[in-house]
Formats: sequence, structure tokens, C-alpha cells
Amino acid sequence: MKILVINAGSSSLKYQLIDMETESVMAKGLCERIGIGGHLKHTPLVGGKPVYNEDIELPTHAEAIAAVIDKLTSAEYGVVGSMKEIDAVGHRVVHGGEKFASSVLIDDAVMEAIAQCTPFAPLHNPANITGILACRKVMGDDVPMVAVFDTAFHQTMPKKAYMYALPYDYYKQDGIRRYGFHGTSHKYVSSRCAEIMGKPIEELKLVSCHLGNGSSICAVDGGKSVDTSMGFTPLAGLPMGTRSGDLDPGAMQFIMNKHHLAIDEMLNVLNKKSGVDGVSGVSSDFRDLDSAAGEGNDRAKLALDMFAYWVAKIAGSYVAAMNGVDAIIFTAGVGENSADTRKAICDYFGYLGVTVDPEANKKRGEDVMISTPDSKVKVYVIPTNEELVIARDTRDIVSGK
Ligand code: AMP
Repeated sequence: MKILVINAGSSSLKYQLIDMETESVMAKGLCERIGIGGHLKHTPLVGGKPVYNEDIELPTHAEAIAAVIDKLTSAEYGVVGSMKEIDAVGHRVVHGGEKFASSVLIDDAVMEAIAQCTPFAPLHNPANITGILACRKVMGDDVPMVAVFDTAFHQTMPKKAYMYALPYDYYKQDGIRRYGFHGTSHKYVSSRCAEIMGKPIEELKLVSCHLGNGSSICAVDGGKSVDTSMGFTPLAGLPMGTRSGDLDPGAMQFIMNKHHLAIDEMLNVLNKKSGVDGVSGVSSDFRDLDSAAGEGNDRAKLALDMFAYWVAKIAGSYVAAMNGVDAIIFTAGVGENSADTRKAICDYFGYLGVTVDPEANKKRGEDVMISTPDSKVKVYVIPTNEELVIARDTRDIVSGK
């Protein structure tokens, strides 16, 4: 079975074609600048075909999907003979609200329900819907399509973890609660961790740290998300590349009054000008922060110190929430690549009996245990693979598993 995985943004569309017999990626690519020009980079990974990397007109997502199918099936860049070989499509959808606790076969009712979740993710869900409709238009009604939600994995959180201490009606009438994000990633790395440890996930307490440009931590008890650091929106929790993370709303009111900011301007500051970028004044990229800190930039060092402190603080609160932990997992851009950040975080875990093996901590791009063999709590780096989770869920649903 071959599955096309689509992650549609407002002006971009990422894709992978995955062969489920081997779970290997046959081709991957990215359409950018949709609606404002257009660019397609298509990388075939089987058959020794060349990379296609050109500006092309992409007025809408439909042209982008058509261009992707064209490349996937072309003699020069293709990896399959025709579109008929694509058995199903899995779509990443950001917000499934309380309606979706798992992935689902897309039909009209599901499309309507995804649209109803749009107020919770006004930038993301409309783009995801556009991607699904574009696929329908180009590939027809016969190809089954599955929606895989970033929020679904967290629907197992107990009420005490997902409720905000606000007047109850805001939850009941408006759905204001913690939803959490990065669920597909937390799900993948936690189940992979259980595999690597050779233990049933039902018996494990795991803390999964997805640290990238956006970052979140998840407490996974017995394979289920029981708490997570992002909230009603992906702005909550840890300080991130440019997002503030948790903040006293009273500070917002003070800033807005003092600097005459409207709420949208304030949120723009919190989403795009804060985090390690805002604190350091250097960059949102941890590579830049590492070099600036190395050259003696105090604010870059402060931003890195704050980040490690927050990760340790939230991870520690999840150890308390689960009454223990068997393993801590690092994933995503920073978690997979920044040995210094991992070390700085793990230095806080002495109380858990964590000891890091400096040699293992240098490895990159593979599943690796970075704790010493006698470390009481194990620490792993596991490269995330959200596309594979989307493809597996899609396979299971279309094959009726
Ligand atoms: P993601 O959102 O998961 O794609 O992560 C992207 C972020 O990972 C970048 O903004 C960098 O901050 C970080 N990153 C990527 N490569 C490295 C690296 N070699 N060292 C430190 N940070 C890295």
C-alpha cells in the first residue's frame, strides 16, 4: 500500500509518499509561495531520479497538488507509474477540538466538523481544509482520505489536567480548555521509546519533550497523554523560538496600556517577537544562540538558561503528576540536535538519578539512549516522524483495522 501524506499550510504544502510494505519514504517535497507565485522542490528517494527544484505558477492548492501528482508519476522525476498506485491520502489537521480523539476517514460530516473547529485554529484549520478539497478535486472521490489531528492524542487527559480555573461556563459553552498540540509527535516517540526499551507501553511512565521552533512537553502514562504544556493554543507552556509560553495575563494588560497595543498587536508580540528570540535579541534559532552565547553574549546565554530551566520545571511537574518516570525523551529540531541543550536540561534531573553519557549525547540522526547504563531514569533521543504516524493511521483506517 502506498500512502500520500499531506501537510497543508496557508501558502505551503509538504508531502511524502510512503510505501507501507517497508514504511520507507519513496519521495518527499514542498510547495511554497502558493497564491503568491510558486515553487516546488520534489525529491525522489527511490530509482535514482533527480531532484526537481523550480519556480512554477501555483495560484491555488489545487495546482500545487496537481504539480505534486505530476512529479510523483512523471517519467523523469516519478516514483510510481500512475496516480492509481496511490492507495490513500493522510492529511495532517491541526485542531480536532473535543470532536476527534483519533484519526478518522474523511467524509462530508467530518469536513463540517473540522470547519467547526476553525475558531480554535483560525490560521491552520482553513489551510488543512483547503488541502483536503484540493486533493479531492485533483484525485477524485474514489481515493480514501484520512484526517490525523495534532490534538487527538491529548484527548485522554483527565479533566483536572485540561480544565482552566475559569468560570465553568467558558468551558461548557465555548470549549475553552487545554487541548495540546504536537500529539502526533508525542505519540510516535513514546511508542518508539517503548519498543526500544522492550517493554509494553502500558507499563511505562514517559516524559516526551518535543523541542523545536515550537516546543511542548507531554506526560505519557501507560501510552496515554495525561498532561501537556501547550494549551488552548500553541502559545502556552515553554518559551519557544519566538513564542512567549506561559505568562501572567496581568503583564499583558500592563504592556497593552503602557504601549497602546490592541489585543491583536499584543498577540503578535507574544507569538512572533518573544521566546528565546525576544529575550536574546539575537535569533530564534538555537544554533545562533549557541554561537552567540559562546562568544560571550549574556542575553543569548540567559535565553538558553531560561529554556533549559523551563523544560526541567515542566518535565519535573509531570514526574510529580505521574508519580514517577521511567524515561525522558528528546525530539524535534532542538531536542534531536542540540547536545548542549539536552545536557543543560538533564543537569536538573540529578534528583531522578539521571546521568548522561557525554559520548552518546554527541550522536545525531538516530534513536539513541544518551543516559549511562546505570542511570535510574533512562534518557533517549528519538527523531520524530509525524508523517509515518499519519501514514500508519491512514493505512489502519482504510484497511479497516
Ligand atoms: P523544528 O521546529 O523541529 O523543525 O526545529 C527547528 C529548530 O531546531 C531550529 O529553529 C533550531 O533552533 C533547531 N536546530 C536545528 N538544528 C540544530 C542544531 N544542529 N543545533 C541546535 N539547534 C538546532
